[in-house]
Amino acid sequence: MNTLHHGFWTYVALRKKKEAVPYALVGSVFPDLIYYIMFFYILIFGDIFTANAIEEMGWAGVVHDLAHALFAHPVVEVLREAGHSIFIWGIVFALVVYYKGWKMNKWTGFMYGWLGHVVIDLLTHVNDAIPIFYPVSDLIIRGPVSYWDRRHYGDIFSLVNGILIGLAIIYLIIKKVNASRKRSL
Ligand SMILES: [Zn+2]
Repeated sequence: MNTLHHGFWTYVALRKKKEAVPYALVGSVFPDLIYYIMFFYILIFGDIFTANAIEEMGWAGVVHDLAHALFAHPVVEVLREAGHSIFIWGIVFALVVYYKGWKMNKWTGFMYGWLGHVVIDLLTHVNDAIPIFYPVSDLIIRGPVSYWDRRHYGDIFSLVNGILIGLAIIYLIIKKVNASRKRSL
């Protein structure tokens, strides 16, 4: 799923665990952070984004080449698979539980945000699914829908997800207004 939507749904799911929410939000976008870091790295230090290239291929061509270079970059490849692996998550979670305990705290909050990301991506990636137990197994489980690919209901998914986000925002606003009204009575 799109990085921003991961953050949104994690907020909705964990909003009542106030002390853990900021950490869960960071956890929920953590597996995708490498794309943004490396995007700017390639943009600044690579030789794709140049005046010449833009003149030759146009903006769309340059952006396409940038995206291609991003996902082909070995650092992105390794960290993308590691960040979306339930095996890697499990090892880190075991360490967190050992040192910080089970209870909801900053650390477990971060881990649950991260877990939510891995599970949602497991369900919403088809052709671009990642080996779920990377690096110990090549097993790839393909999700029932793709969050973007029209050949796998990507258009329906986007529409339904968009409607649900809209409804969730309305619900949260109504709750907030009601709560502040009660407080002022
Ligand atoms: Zn992801």
